[in-house]
Amino acid sequence: MAMYQNGVIFNQVDTTDPECWTLEAYLARGGYQALKKIIHDRIPQDDVIAELKTSGLRGRGGAGFPTGLKWSFMPRSFPGTKYIVCNTDEGEPGTFKDRDIIDYNPHALIEGMIIGGYAMGAATGYNYIHGEIFESYLRFETALQQARDAGFLGQNILGSDFSFELHAHHGYGAYICGEETALLESLEGKKGQPRFKPPFPASYGLYGKPTTVNNTETFSSVPFIIRDGGQQFADKGIPNNGGTKLFSVSGHVERPGNYEIPLGTPFRDLLDMCGGMRNGKKLKAVIPGGSSAPVLPADVMMEITMDYDAIAKAGSMLGSGAVIVMDEDVCMVKALERLSYFYFEESCGQCTPCREGTGWLYRIIHRITSGKGRPEDLDLLESLGNNISGRTICALADAAVMPIQGFMKHFRPEFEHYIEHGKPMKEHRWC
Ligand code: NAD
Ligand code: SF4
Repeated sequence: MAMYQNGVIFNQVDTTDPECWTLEAYLARGGYQALKKIIHDRIPQDDVIAELKTSGLRGRGGAGFPTGLKWSFMPRSFPGTKYIVCNTDEGEPGTFKDRDIIDYNPHALIEGMIIGGYAMGAATGYNYIHGEIFESYLRFETALQQARDAGFLGQNILGSDFSFELHAHHGYGAYICGEETALLESLEGKKGQPRFKPPFPASYGLYGKPTTVNNTETFSSVPFIIRDGGQQFADKGIPNNGGTKLFSVSGHVERPGNYEIPLGTPFRDLLDMCGGMRNGKKLKAVIPGGSSAPVLPADVMMEITMDYDAIAKAGSMLGSGAVIVMDEDVCMVKALERLSYFYFEESCGQCTPCREGTGWLYRIIHRITSGKGRPEDLDLLESLGNNISGRTICALADAAVMPIQGFMKHFRPEFEHYIEHGKPMKEHRWC
């Protein structure tokens, strides 16, 4: 199910219409006007990037890095090949927005990537699509062919001297391949394992060439910004948090789904859009930005606005915008056990603190849910987490530790009770 409200990506997209994703439908919505504008008016590359900076667009994959700044990192005078890569390998538990973009509005992404190629002087792009969404991959391939047939992709686009080719790549479903350097390794045909950063992809990326990697939602926001202006986009959000953002709401709400809303919208309004709590239950907690983001309790969430700064100030992250809503019946110990297993399972195994530490974390939490927890286990979890964080190649290990810190900070008594009595505080549901 998907619901969109006055957004920039899904504005005018009727997701109940089976033809809403086609080139004809996109053109009828004003699609490819931004591309025509920069080509016909020969807008300088620097002006395109300046428009992005004005928009305040921040990376929608999770890190929130300013997109205009990232595009400006691409070396202008580099003599060889440069690449742009779209990361559609969304795998963060709770995140399901990028697949909807490909399913319902793939040409917004294609147009955004072509504009990216123009602005950064790249002639080739790739879209790396998560392995578990094969139908979405097929749809994207079809949309690519439509764009080629219409002259938006390929040699001498719209009769200009600008050429750009875009390829889809179907991944295999490993979470770690969503990490940008593991994605590049995988795209090169190697095992998908992260590289050390720096060097960042902007200087050493795909096949060692300058590369810009952006998330699907980030690229798909670009046509609006170029067509209607960066300021229009910025004005939709709040200062330092420009534009609208897709939130994937899951869990115990009446109407889970994707909601495209202005950054800065109060969480309580988002909850209302979702029809409120399922079966009239009370809100207990929310993971506001995908499973790596520390959980926040209900009282904090009901006062918070959905933007990068407000959520960071509350001690969590907006991340990819995956909002996991938990009601009063959720056992936080079991919930954390489930999350910890995920990171243990998905560690690529390169770094000892992550390979061994994620398993160790999971086993301690599992010991608690098995009724065999020890009083010292909570301190052990904390000390283990401190010894894992910041000591690995990529952020997966940090992402495994952050949920534990959040659950401990806000729900420690539930863990203590489980250890003392060998069972949950009350008859919580398994989750
Ligand atoms: P990061 O902060 O290391 O980097 C963000 C982006 O900015 C990268 O593209 C990086 O190359 C670029 N960058 C940063 N500093 C730079 C510099 N000095 N020079 C050039 N480029 C620079 O974050 P990350 O590791 O890419 O992403 C972590 C985030 O990913 C987490 O916060 C999490 O929310 C999110 N995440 C999302 C998913 C998903 O499915 N969407 C899955 C896992 C994690
Ligand atoms: Fe692999 Fe974990 Fe090291 Fe990342 S932190 S490179 S996932 S072992």
